[in-house]
Amino acid sequence: MKVMKFGGTSVGKPERMRQIAELIIADNEPVMVVLSALSGTTNALVEITHRLAASDKQGASEKIEALENHYNKFIDDLLQDVSLHARAKEVLNEHFEFLSITQKISLSDALNKDILAQGELMSTKLFSLFLEQSKIDHALLPALDFMRLDQNEEPDLALIQEKLNGVLANYTTKNIFVTQGYICRNAKGEVDNLKRGGSDYTASLIAAAIKASVCEIWTDIDGMHNNDPRVVEKTVAIEQLSFDEAAELAYFGAKILHPTCIWPAQQENIPVKLLNTMEPKAPGTVIKKEAGTVGVKAVAAKDDIIAVKIKSTRMLLAYGFLRKIFEVFEKYKTPIDMITTSEVAVSVTIDSDLHLAEIIAELNNIASVEVERSQTIVSIVGNEIAMTDSILKKLFNSIDEIPITMVSYGGSAHNISLLMPSEHKTKTLQLINKGLFDL
Ligand code: ADP
Ligand code: ASP
Ligand code: MG
Repeated sequence: MKVMKFGGTSVGKPERMRQIAELIIADNEPVMVVLSALSGTTNALVEITHRLAASDKQGASEKIEALENHYNKFIDDLLQDVSLHARAKEVLNEHFEFLSITQKISLSDALNKDILAQGELMSTKLFSLFLEQSKIDHALLPALDFMRLDQNEEPDLALIQEKLNGVLANYTTKNIFVTQGYICRNAKGEVDNLKRGGSDYTASLIAAAIKASVCEIWTDIDGMHNNDPRVVEKTVAIEQLSFDEAAELAYFGAKILHPTCIWPAQQENIPVKLLNTMEPKAPGTVIKKEAGTVGVKAVAAKDDIIAVKIKSTRMLLAYGFLRKIFEVFEKYKTPIDMITTSEVAVSVTIDSDLHLAEIIAELNNIASVEVERSQTIVSIVGNEIAMTDSILKKLFNSIDEIPITMVSYGGSAHNISLLMPSEHKTKTLQLINKGLFDL
């Protein structure tokens, strides 16, 4: 069985749903189809939760109404069969009634997550009705029955595997399954999600759980490009990436993949393919164990980074100083992205300020601490990049004018990371495109 995940733009229009129905029956291999919400829906739902949190009931209700109108038009175009259209209307009524009720009850974290889950629940139900109209035999599997987080709010792959395989055992004659990306239940059994862009993560987790032949991520671009196409004009698709390279690119900001979605597929050695729904014949990018070629492959950028500069209050970095620092970040479950050290100081970067105040307070017992916000990490990713001819010279020559505040090199064979104030990101990505990729 293979996994085919379709993102927001790939399901965002009725004609696209028609197109993906053709793609899933194109070969005879059994398939698990993972769908995102229609494009724009999750953003709209987030906005609704913000308005509710701000007690702006009028604003929330306007947003809900606009969304409902959009979905009503969508089903008018998608479903010509009168009785299936009526069932779609019932589906929409049920979900929009729920959204209306949320305005009357007090907002909690759990309710927030319930609101955010509506998008994927609706897209899959509508697609299932469309498949029924097209006489394509299939089963719709509720992701909430098998997608689970553990106590640490991380996906529980062993449990997912057990539950999903249990569910699949009930459908020995079906070849096409449809399920929701992004949504799951947490260890308390509440509705939760895998964070923004999480449908990629669902796809990879399911691929690992069912030992799929391939995990296909269908989106609106022909694969992973060498640079961020939203920022840089001329970018090109990469033919092949290793799991490690793809994981670095995803983690360091290449939006085409959820930041941590590679590990489940990597663990089971399942190839991941990035493909374009709008151009299904394009080769796309294949992500597998082997890197294919040596050298620089791509650059990505991660915004909203906070630099924490920690200076020992003693003159030298005493034995055990680093351990004490790391323990503070560990205590507050705050991952460190970049690190550099000198004789008396350590600088690290983090991407969340959730526990920053507590971290600073504890570090202040052993060091003086300075914080700089609004930083961006630019990561150059490739295979054995340290071995690439004159890589550092080329890189630094090309970005000579950029005020770089941290450099991380040598930590991995796949990555060189630079830190800079965010206002220099665009220029840096453009300069690197010329200097390293000759584009
Ligand atoms: P989906 O809704 O299908 O999950 P996303 O919007 O999450 O799609 O991801 C696809 C988008 O990622 C592309 O349209 C592109 O603008 C953006 N993107 C950012 N960096 C890259 C990159 N290096 N290669 C390809 N796409 C990228
Ligand atoms: N719908 C969710 C989002 O927009 C998940 C996804 O599309 O991957 O973040
Ligand atoms: Mg995405």
